[in-house]
Amino acid sequence: TTTKRPRNSEDQQQPQKKVHAQVADHYNSRPDVGVEKRKESTIFRLKSFNNWLKSVLIGRYARPRDRVLDVGVGKGGDLLKWSKAKIQYFIGCDIASKSVEQARERYRTMRNAPFEAHFHAMDCYSEPISSVVAPEIVFDMVSMQFCLHYSFETETKARMMLHNVTSQLKPGGVFIGTIPDAYWIVKKLKSESDDKLQIGNSIYSIRFERRDRFDTFGSKYWFHLEDAIDDCPEYLVHFPTFQKLAEEYGLELIYNKKFHQVYEEASQELDFNQLLYRMNVVSESGSLSADEWEAANVYLAFAFRKKN
Ligand code: SAM
Repeated sequence: TTTKRPRNSEDQQQPQKKVHAQVADHYNSRPDVGVEKRKESTIFRLKSFNNWLKSVLIGRYARPRDRVLDVGVGKGGDLLKWSKAKIQYFIGCDIASKSVEQARERYRTMRNAPFEAHFHAMDCYSEPISSVVAPEIVFDMVSMQFCLHYSFETETKARMMLHNVTSQLKPGGVFIGTIPDAYWIVKKLKSESDDKLQIGNSIYSIRFERRDRFDTFGSKYWFHLEDAIDDCPEYLVHFPTFQKLAEEYGLELIYNKKFHQVYEEASQELDFNQLLYRMNVVSESGSLSADEWEAANVYLAFAFRKKN
């Protein structure tokens, strides 16, 4: 069995508990709507694009029979992508216990359960993964989609996140993810008039409390994404710091591209181009609006390889 009882470390961390709780509550409170309802969303195309982009990353780096750890698995929105990648074994962890429950349910209702999967509710930035996953389990891949930036609240959390990513990843194994691009965000903010604390458009907004200083850790902003995220506290990830820290944990950067760049490259490849249509990013009735297209480029995709 893979399961050990998770420790409850929350009581020792009162000051930080608030943001964890806010983030977990936020994601727990989002309903898991079905495919048909999702089509009615104002950002249906953007959601489809983000899913397509994750499929590209998974398609590029996953190998048949891989053992995968998904940190910040959420409601299990990537399970089908992992199934298409023909992986063998999957563990998903997330701080939002309701989301984990929904991910488990989604897995249960997948036809012919294509791989073995286990799900755990845990704070992956404060607790070691070994508290829920047996140490003899070795992963070929770790995935962190749209969630790593929450760990940049403090260096301690970012280190625990990297410990969890690397401690059971095999040498040569790959770590993939997507995060907001702090460089782009701050550049955009600075291009606005001096008194502005916010950037965005009809789809998203990023609001800072100050603009005179951006610390390496704990640079908080409030993120709103129409029909998805209602003003959630997030943290800038200073990429050079992330890369340097990752190196300490034996990870070598092999890929780092803005979402627009990923699109430009991958859409030239026949399989990924066809997937744009199959995943409804593009159809006869249209594609992303200009505002959605700008919101898409808030993010970047990365991959690291664990050194031998
Ligand atoms: N990876 C999923 C996806 O791409 O659909 C979910 C992404 S959602 C935007 C961010 C996820 O990060 C949420 O499910 C949230 O609960 C999770 N998260 C935030 N802080 C976390 C922590 N400390 N430990 C584990 N998961 C966390």
